[in-house]
Amino acid sequence: MTSAPSADQPRISFVSLGCPKALVDSERIITQLRAEGYEVTRSHAGADAVIVNTCGFLDSAKAESLDAIGAAMKENGKVIVTGCMGAEPEQIRERFPNILAITGPQAYESVMGAVRGAVPSNHDPFIDLVPEQGIKLTPRHYAYLKISEGCNNRCTFCIIPKLRGDLVSRPAGDVLREAEKLVAAGVKELLVISQDTSAYGLDLKYAESAFHDRSVRARFYDLSKELGSLGAWIRLHYVYPYPHVDEVLPLMADGLVLPYLDIPFQHASPQVLKAMKRPGNQEKTLERIRKWREICPDLAIRSTFIVGFPGETDEDFDMLLDWLGEAKLDRVGAFKYEPVTGAVANDLGLPQVPDEVKEIRYRRFMEKQQAISAKILGNKVGKRLKVIIDQPGPTVSKGRAKSDAPEIDGSVYVSSRRPLRAGDIVSVKIERADAYDLHGILA
Ligand code: SF4
Repeated sequence: MTSAPSADQPRISFVSLGCPKALVDSERIITQLRAEGYEVTRSHAGADAVIVNTCGFLDSAKAESLDAIGAAMKENGKVIVTGCMGAEPEQIRERFPNILAITGPQAYESVMGAVRGAVPSNHDPFIDLVPEQGIKLTPRHYAYLKISEGCNNRCTFCIIPKLRGDLVSRPAGDVLREAEKLVAAGVKELLVISQDTSAYGLDLKYAESAFHDRSVRARFYDLSKELGSLGAWIRLHYVYPYPHVDEVLPLMADGLVLPYLDIPFQHASPQVLKAMKRPGNQEKTLERIRKWREICPDLAIRSTFIVGFPGETDEDFDMLLDWLGEAKLDRVGAFKYEPVTGAVANDLGLPQVPDEVKEIRYRRFMEKQQAISAKILGNKVGKRLKVIIDQPGPTVSKGRAKSDAPEIDGSVYVSSRRPLRAGDIVSVKIERADAYDLHGILA
């Protein structure tokens, strides 16, 4: 996110770490910086201050955040820290006592207060124009749309509710107005994110809010349906298998919402799921998945799992592998359990799984899933798929099918004689598949 430097505008260097949710926070801060007349730059040297938006989810992410703060202190010295790690300021102050300010996640106003205090701006509303849809850190043809913040669940391995608090949903009208502006500005794909997308609106008691000439309820189904009428690809992330999720499958079958669900199942053994305190009815998920596929045969499911959770036995792990074989998910990520500081799972009194066992289970899990994913990809050879172009190339462009989200899933490499542009949605005949990606020609 760099703009042309100008002599009299103060410059702020920005580092954005962490998940898509943190990226949305970064976009909001950058939009505000630009609105108040600050230049945003990538280079710490020569900047008037640095903002580091940190991630504190895993200890490895904390280490990366501390490294980024260290680099900013060394190269610049005027550093403001925000984001998830800002919720635990002691750790940062201990290592970097001269930090200018530390604020927690979503503390846009406090971050701006710290910036204004450190570097006053020469704000001129006539030259400091910000595009109406805000500043996006993602390529222009796709954008993340955050519908709520925080989480009412208390999964025992997760400290997000401690960091970000309970669920706070945005009114449906607000979300839809933002989505509409993004689409009007050229965004072709909206990625709906939150901590728990299917819980959307619970805190608002599903209140209605105005959007154009009608009222829209703050409900997962209603919002998905309205988003689906905007003419962009709508992709749902972080959905839990609550019963009402079944309602959106017809929207997928009708082409209003992408036939894609990102559901972090995390495990399959009832005993482990119970110890994790996972939300949703996770026990009959195989049956649910079967029904979803009956309604929408093209449905792609992506998920994440944790192996080596405290107390996970060989039987639990075998159950997980069997479940994986039955569920046949399209894309899967796995993590080896990390005892995040502050997580309840550390105090459950369950035995830790030794690192070498975690490693073996992780490898077995990935091998099993790779074979499943490869088979699913192989079945796509010979089909025609709609593909959105992310990176155009002279003869081969890189894009994604409806089954693939940016950054986390696979790609489709498209050979074409005519030039393609980012955001083009084209029809592609798939010619071959490798372990993660598809290759085809413009149909
Ligand atoms: S649903 Fe569970 S894992 Fe996800 S943010 Fe909430 S507590 Fe954390």
